[in-house]
Amino acid sequence: MSQFSDHNFKNQKALVRVDFNVPLDKDFNITDDTRMRAAVPTIKKILNDGGSVILMSHLGRPKDGPDKKFSLKHLLPHLKELLGDDNVLFANDCIGDEAIKKSEELKPGEVLLLENLRFYKEEEKGDEEFAKKLASLADVYVNDAFGTAHRAHASTAVIAQFFPKDKRMFGLLMNAEVSSAEKVLNESEKPFLAIIGGAKVSDKILIIENLLERATDIIIGGGMAYTFFKAMGGKIGNSLCEDDRLDKARELLEKAKQKNVNIHLPADSIIADKFDANAMVSGSLSNDIPDGWMGLDIGEMACETFSKVIHHSKTILWNGPMGVFEMKKFQHGTKTIAEAVAEATADGAFSLVGGGDSVAAVNEFGLADKVSYVSTGGGALLEYFEGKELPGIKAIKE
Ligand code: AMP
Repeated sequence: MSQFSDHNFKNQKALVRVDFNVPLDKDFNITDDTRMRAAVPTIKKILNDGGSVILMSHLGRPKDGPDKKFSLKHLLPHLKELLGDDNVLFANDCIGDEAIKKSEELKPGEVLLLENLRFYKEEEKGDEEFAKKLASLADVYVNDAFGTAHRAHASTAVIAQFFPKDKRMFGLLMNAEVSSAEKVLNESEKPFLAIIGGAKVSDKILIIENLLERATDIIIGGGMAYTFFKAMGGKIGNSLCEDDRLDKARELLEKAKQKNVNIHLPADSIIADKFDANAMVSGSLSNDIPDGWMGLDIGEMACETFSKVIHHSKTILWNGPMGVFEMKKFQHGTKTIAEAVAEATADGAFSLVGGGDSVAAVNEFGLADKVSYVSTGGGALLEYFEGKELPGIKAIKE
């Protein structure tokens, strides 16, 4: 593996796997360009060196070959804007004659965007021949798509073998993602706190299990907390609960005790009579929620206790909201926790926020630049913290 920042791309063609899987509205306008903006520094470094860039990405989930709805062509005008350059070319296919010809003719300082990789089923299958065809377009392979690093697809992992070690590397975004995740998982300054929230325990069991080996404290909030309360014999009314995970919840609590990891559950909750922005609202202990009511946010006592734990921590990982923060009435808990994480960061803690909904929350509260790192990888980050080796990382490193 070679270091991107040390590499001189002069007169080289770099094939860069980006994650341009951006949301589009029905008129194909980009509604959130975060992922595109995140790739710009990598593209610019290559161009500034005097190299050329061939961009490849997937967009959406096309079912059966080419589909206009999922064409990367929709992204071309905005890509030109972001790069401040009209000289961005497009190939209507990611392999084949047009892609080969346009790649061959690409001059230093130019960018070529290839059509959606997932128009070929070979991409997700990790087909070697397909990966080889993509590889033949360029001299250097740069993976800057952390969001897909957990997939063993042709363009994210399989392709790396067709480049020598000094011609395959992480881009700047991928480097930043990997080093901040590594810092938290393997070099965390103690106390290390993990804040885990969101809807389902089942999605977060593996991450909690892995963190039990490393964390000092784990805060469990959001809908998933109620499965734990029920497992301990509490009354949770109509709150979210996964009855098939009650044993697992008990097992996790027991393991935490053995490993001296402090688990913090929200002592109280904001409860509602229905899952609705206009629901009637009250407060309750989280283990004594009346029938017909459901916990949709953490309460004031929980906010206070959780904030104290956050302020004592030196490393903080946050994945998942504390309540239904999409509705104003139930966003106080998530906002309080976001503010506490920002304050702890200002006091010197390292904080990493990752996973779609907690990222949306820090953005909504205007706190994204007040935490140490906001990850662009949802599933990839989760799998990393579950202790799995991500194929996209492994392929470049080995
Ligand atoms: P996840 O994708 O598992 O991280 O879950 C995020 C979702 O969990 C968000 O859409 C929240 O609205 C939802 N959520 C958080 N707390 C609760 C709760 N107490 N009850 C129901 N849904 C919740």
